[in-house]
Amino acid sequence: AADVVPKAPEDPLFGLMTAYRADTFEKKVDLGIGAYRDDNAKPWVLPVVKKADAVLRSDPNLDHEYLPIAGLQQFTSASQKLILGKNSPAISEKRVASLQTISGTGAVHLGALFLKKFYRPGQTSSVYFSSPTWANHNQIFSNVNLPITTYPYFSAKTRGLDFDGMLSSIKSAPEGSIILLHACAHNPTGVDPTQDQWKQVAEVMKARNLFPFFDCAYQGFASGDLARDGWAISYFVEQGFELVVAQSYAKNFGLYGERAGCFHFVAAPASDATDVATRVASQLAILQRSEISNPPAYGARIASLVLNDPALFAMWEEDLRTMSSRIIEMRKALRSKLEELGTPGTWNHITDQIGMFSFTGLTEAQVQKLRADSHIYMTKNGRVSMAGINTNNVQYVAEAINKIVRA
Ligand code: PMP
Repeated sequence: AADVVPKAPEDPLFGLMTAYRADTFEKKVDLGIGAYRDDNAKPWVLPVVKKADAVLRSDPNLDHEYLPIAGLQQFTSASQKLILGKNSPAISEKRVASLQTISGTGAVHLGALFLKKFYRPGQTSSVYFSSPTWANHNQIFSNVNLPITTYPYFSAKTRGLDFDGMLSSIKSAPEGSIILLHACAHNPTGVDPTQDQWKQVAEVMKARNLFPFFDCAYQGFASGDLARDGWAISYFVEQGFELVVAQSYAKNFGLYGERAGCFHFVAAPASDATDVATRVASQLAILQRSEISNPPAYGARIASLVLNDPALFAMWEEDLRTMSSRIIEMRKALRSKLEELGTPGTWNHITDQIGMFSFTGLTEAQVQKLRADSHIYMTKNGRVSMAGINTNNVQYVAEAINKIVRA
């Protein structure tokens, strides 16, 4: 094989990280990677995670045996409640199949693999992504050979949602198409539909018999309110859809490297829905066995302890508010500094957008110049990770953007 394997390009995001690390400039700023940083630009281990970790480690019976193929049962059942709501009829009617996965990426992959194998056999269904979307969606779905199409999402003009474009594209999608939806805090734009807009999307999807695939990587991290960030998913389930959800605990627990996540298949309400979910779970287990055999234990144990203990859960909600409110503060600070400087253009989108990222509207040339002149690193589409901004560097970042925009 040696002579037929071409050299692949480096992953753009991780390449950016390498370049940032190698930069020796004192005031360099990392606005690339989607991981939370505290006000001192340091990774933040959630206090509740430290607490759960101490509990885990003090257990004399803790061992390192394999988890079941579907993962830690207390973790997957708590994850269902978190994402669908405690009182979800889908849970009480036993029509949810859930497997622990390698974080959100693994959940998206398991979902893609499952749909490729079992969704509308004999017919070719495409998956629709928002334009733009998380870059890895493309790779994951093309790896399983599902045809990919896109729907409009971001309006460069308003730097907000192109809702008409989105809705009319979904309306004209062939029946049975799979529509990938970011549950909250859309990556890379930070732009979400309103609840009323979600309702319209659901209505069109119902009428056209389209299949919702929710990717939820920021529940609780976006607004600090778990139910609010999970609202769209609960709403679609209430509307009786058959759907799937990829759930990540990377951001909301700060468990990035531990790879804790969950995949859920929700059967539509019907007399045989429990049986459908059981059959689906059995096939997912076979796919999982061949891919990873058994999911990793540590992150799921931490999350499970917290999710299943009311006192720890309350602590976690506090930690979520700490992270989301710092990010919201930095949005306000960056916007007001740009406005104080009289930076040409409008900057309300910085505070209108939510979650980890902001789509600044900076061009690729401006992004490159920011890096060359000011040692500020961001992806070339002008996406800024708000977590990289803090009270020490916000002035520096605003001044650098101001200079570039005026150049
Ligand atoms: N989906 C989206 C939209 C994301 O932004 C992310 C995190 N970058 C993920 C999925 C999955 O990340 P992880 O595998 O680290 O949970």
